Amino acid sequence: MGPRLGVLGWPVRHSRSPAIQNAALAAVGLAEWRYQLLPVPPILFSETVRALPGAGFRGANVTIPHKEAALALADDATASARAIGAANTLTFDRDGAIHADNTDAPGLIATLPFDAAGRSALVLGAGGSARAAVWALLEAGTREVRVWNRSPERARALCAELGGIPVLDAEPADLLVNCTSSGLDTSRPMFNSLPLGADDVTKYKCVVDLVYTKWDTPLVSAARANAIPTVDGLEMLIAQGALSFERFTGEPAPTELMRAAVRRG
Ligand code: NDP
Repeated sequence: MGPRLGVLGWPVRHSRSPAIQNAALAAVGLAEWRYQLLPVPPILFSETVRALPGAGFRGANVTIPHKEAALALADDATASARAIGAANTLTFDRDGAIHADNTDAPGLIATLPFDAAGRSALVLGAGGSARAAVWALLEAGTREVRVWNRSPERARALCAELGGIPVLDAEPADLLVNCTSSGLDTSRPMFNSLPLGADDVTKYKCVVDLVYTKWDTPLVSAARANAIPTVDGLEMLIAQGALSFERFTGEPAPTELMRAAVRRG
């Protein structure tokens, strides 16, 4: 069997990563490589990951709820993963050494339709992806990063650690980035749990929503209806996945093909 890759999560069955990564592997001629779902409960995370290099794995993506545990178990980590406090990409040496990186941060910056330097941003959320977004925007020179969270004390703690300004209302900004999981449960009205309504999207020059579901989220729909440049969760998945692919294989990622694979559903 050829080299193996996968995505570690719990649950992980809905992940689109195998579709985009296997399409990319085939496109660059790595026909022997395979990328698979790796459903692993938290209690088994550490021992399972340590066994992966011996089972032929070269790397793995990491998703909810393992990103912090992935950083903690790695033998070394990039400065960005350490600053963010979470890893979404693990690569394995042949001797079993585990390296941690975070491609959510550069992935977000890569998706933006304009240079983030000198701009203002409002980040919704204070979990792992919000930490990556705030860190990435400040690194990219964003002038002002405001952070709102359902539990305000978490926004305050995040800003005290990484920078940014905790806020209690959704103020206008160049960029709006939804890093909450609001919108994931399509049976619940998304805007009820956010500090803004559908009409408020016009206060932003670009709307980014990390959440992806089968359909556009209400936030993405509202932004598109108002002709506001929009980055949906699938674009973010492609961007961070392309960077992970390059770290796993050393090959440039065929981004257009990955986009086609994920949009096919
Ligand atoms: P975390 O569990 O670390 O954080 C969740 C955040 O969402 C917290 O700020 C939490 O607020 C908030 N939240 C949860 N439920 C609600 C709600 N009903 N109303 C308002 N706020 C809520 O998750 P992550 O940061 O890792 O991920 C967040 C989302 O981003 C997920 O849907 C994930 O799938 C998506 N994501 C997508 C990526 C992509 O490639 N497209 C990459 C990374 C993440 P509180 O602190 O108050 O609990």
